[in-house]
Amino acid sequence: MSFCTKCGTQVQEGIKFCGNCGNAMQGGNTPQASQSPNLEGFQTKPAKKSNGWWGVLAFAIAFIIFKIIQHYVKF
Ligand SMILES: [Zn+2]
Repeated sequence: MSFCTKCGTQVQEGIKFCGNCGNAMQGGNTPQASQSPNLEGFQTKPAKKSNGWWGVLAFAIAFIIFKIIQHYVKF
């Protein structure tokens, strides 16, 4: 349990906003808030990169297959 820094109401730990006054919980959440975006960015970046590579690869393969199909359709 942690307390709202603005009104002092007891709030659940990990909650982002005080249920009483709506104050953004800064006390215990600042380290978590700064950590989680970093972690998310760290996790998302390689996934995005590999997704991009797979996308390019898939597009290249699809393009080649399309060209082959076009070639056979012409004949
Ligand atoms: Zn509050």
